Amino acid sequence: MKTGEEYIESLRKRKMVVYLFGEEVKNPVDHPVIRPSINSVAATYDVANDSRHRDIATAKSHITGDTINRFTHIHQSTEDLVKKVKLLRLLGRKTGTCFQRCVGMDSLNALSIVTFEMDQKLGTEYYQRFIEYLKHVQENDLICCGAMTDPKGDRKLRPSQQADPDLYLRIVERRDDGIVVRGSKVHQTGAVNSHEVIVMPTRTMRKDDKNYAVSFAVPSDTEGLIYIYGRQSCDLRKLEGVEYDMGNVKYGGQEAMIIFDDVFVPSERVFMCGEYEFAWPLVDNFSAYHRQSYGGCKTGVGDVLIGAAANIAEYNGVAEASGIKDKIVEMNHLNETLYSCGIACSAAGSRTPSGTFIVDILLANICKHNVTRFPYEIVRLAEDIAGGLLVTAPSEKDFKNPQIGKYVDKYLKGISEVPTENRLRMLRLIENISMGLGSVGYRTESMHGAGSPQSQRIMIERLVDMEYKKKLAKTIAGIEKEELPKLKIQK
Ligand code: SF4
Ligand code: FE
Repeated sequence: MKTGEEYIESLRKRKMVVYLFGEEVKNPVDHPVIRPSINSVAATYDVANDSRHRDIATAKSHITGDTINRFTHIHQSTEDLVKKVKLLRLLGRKTGTCFQRCVGMDSLNALSIVTFEMDQKLGTEYYQRFIEYLKHVQENDLICCGAMTDPKGDRKLRPSQQADPDLYLRIVERRDDGIVVRGSKVHQTGAVNSHEVIVMPTRTMRKDDKNYAVSFAVPSDTEGLIYIYGRQSCDLRKLEGVEYDMGNVKYGGQEAMIIFDDVFVPSERVFMCGEYEFAWPLVDNFSAYHRQSYGGCKTGVGDVLIGAAANIAEYNGVAEASGIKDKIVEMNHLNETLYSCGIACSAAGSRTPSGTFIVDILLANICKHNVTRFPYEIVRLAEDIAGGLLVTAPSEKDFKNPQIGKYVDKYLKGISEVPTENRLRMLRLIENISMGLGSVGYRTESMHGAGSPQSQRIMIERLVDMEYKKKLAKTIAGIEKEELPKLKIQK
């Protein structure tokens, strides 16, 4: 297993084409806008090398028996699924932001299930290929960017019906030794911080969409890949030479758009090539895992925000007010509900024919659906507790200015025991998570990441057996005289 430092060094060896603010970035590792997001990924390595967390942060490879970082592990039990959620909460607490590594873990697990199913049904040899690839990922402790979301163009048209055929990533050439692909994947978490990109289709496909039913993995610096860095609210603060005005002084998240400009993929790295009926199972399994993930990471970030709200209440001298205490209770109630959903869908998981354990898909959707709402309410309460200074406080540079800093210090003091700077730091942290750099991960990603709210509602409608529930009611009301239908108990 690599350490965080070794991971950062390994990134320097890549020759990626990265653009940010209209310019090519030759050294992404040391760029001030990018580096905080790299620090977050590095934390996923450090935690595995920390003896206090070894039990949840490492696992035993089911292929080699070696101890590996859990982020490269294929879940072998419901205990593995539960430990994953605990690990994500731990890292959310440690970084206060998105640490970007779960998308890779979730795509590896989804591929282990679907490549096996494809081989069973079609007689293909994808599973063995995938296992060889997985060994490479585990042995080198790699970061994989799980890339699913296509630009999608006109949403009412299928991939093959789009005016521009590249709006979904597709195979443009089939060769004896591999395929050539063209297209883009958008909103890709941690893309620039990855060693590998794992591409998956983004939706159901029909026969006409065959060339869009494609899955593969390529090193992140493969020729033809271009990364265009996503903006985040307040990102320029990282270029101001300030510290606490960033809110989170060390860590950050990252999204990027990836362009595949006729990229060659050798056959041994192709895991789906035209088998359109397996596009949906791959999306379905990946989404289920990622909807589970949010029950961990978002609660960890929620812990940080709740802690910040309690601190600012203390610094303002209102910590003992019953209204404040009640709001903190409500924030914790919401946060622990999210965690409960993450744990529940894991504990109720089951073994698939491949041997990989999958979460309870209905409960994973319930988990994510709550994530589309509760962080917003937690943020609302944090803003309520923080007060208006959250959005009106002068900058760090004003505070440190030799002429006027003393006024900021004097008039923005809360309780006398706490330095004004600490009060401002805490407000900036709340700002970061609520509406600044960190809000990308804590708010809008909570809404749309791993599927927008409506996609969970569709799954809930599909997975709940309503006929069964209606029958239960009719039997108990005496409308139907027969025996109660066999009672179903969720595991
Ligand atoms: Fe992991 Fe959460 Fe970031 Fe998704 S949002 S990659 S689950 S930390
Ligand atoms: Fe995500």
